[in-house]
Amino acid sequence: AKELGRNGFQFFAEEMNLKMNSRLRVETQMRRALERNEMQLHYQPKLDIRSGTINGLEALIRWHNDSLGMVSPAEFIPIAEASGLIVQIGEWVLETACKQTLIWHNMGHASLRVSVNISTRQFVRPEFVDRIADIIEKCGLPAQFVDLEITESALTHNISETITILQRLKAMGVTISIDDFGTGYSSLNYLKRFPIDTLKIDKSFVDDVVERTEDAAIVATIIAMAHHMNLNVVAEGVETLEQLDLLKKGGCEEIQGYLFCKPQTAEGLTDFLESFRRK
Ligand code: C2E
Ligand code: CA
Ligand code: CA
Ligand code: CA
Repeated sequence: AKELGRNGFQFFAEEMNLKMNSRLRVETQMRRALERNEMQLHYQPKLDIRSGTINGLEALIRWHNDSLGMVSPAEFIPIAEASGLIVQIGEWVLETACKQTLIWHNMGHASLRVSVNISTRQFVRPEFVDRIADIIEKCGLPAQFVDLEITESALTHNISETITILQRLKAMGVTISIDDFGTGYSSLNYLKRFPIDTLKIDKSFVDDVVERTEDAAIVATIIAMAHHMNLNVVAEGVETLEQLDLLKKGGCEEIQGYLFCKPQTAEGLTDFLESFRRK
């Protein structure tokens, strides 16, 4: 048993070592990723269910590295956050997304809004609002076409400070969505004090909304509450017609998910927008 224990420990130690190595490898490679042009944005449209139009899309980062291959954002974003690299990456994301959206505006998709994910690490920086303002102004896309997706946990760090930051962002013209709504711990009491525009229902609730009455109840409650507070609702991760039907009946405004369109390169999304317009 003693031997087994030692082997067990050795195995554990090796496993840990492997994890540390790969974490360090990811971080090392990530430091050079932007200058090597390894990062790219994909875009996923949101369908307005009532009008049948595309009013918005979400920018989602992709990273291909020669030695690591494709690294998913679920893997590298936490490492970027821990190392602080997320600040630089996040600014690149906002700038790239704004420039691309301006291109689409100039092609005639002039009401298109772009949503950009903001990490907690970015949001809590004292320079955050000024940096956002500088980047948007530099790109020339009017701020009302920029939406910031911020998670509940980022917003509930420091409530009174959050309210001030959100007010400054709103004064600039950008809109605010609460991302992954329902997965955090934000009290409804905070929610009503935040000057926000949209609640994004997390995919985890949408996944089983047809099969599980509990999830259906949660989704219905979020939609009803959002409407009472004059907020828009976007459901993410919609994959089936049954989910769409249920969300539509529940009064959800917009859906995003593989059912309508997977995240695409800028070129891919240009084609999608053009063919959608011709329909
Ligand atoms: P998120 O913000 O909740 O984004 C939604 C995720 O769901 C995306 O994964 C998207 O590709 C995926 N998705 C959309 N529709 C469907 C569907 O119908 N089925 C399934 N199975 N998945 C769907 P992705 O692109 O891998 O991003 C994962 C997470 O990484 C994001 O979750 C977000 O938290 C983070 N992330 C992505 N890009 C950025 C970024 O530029 N900045 C920051 N800070 N975080 C980012
Ligand atoms: Ca998001
Ligand atoms: Ca989510
Ligand atoms: Ca998220």
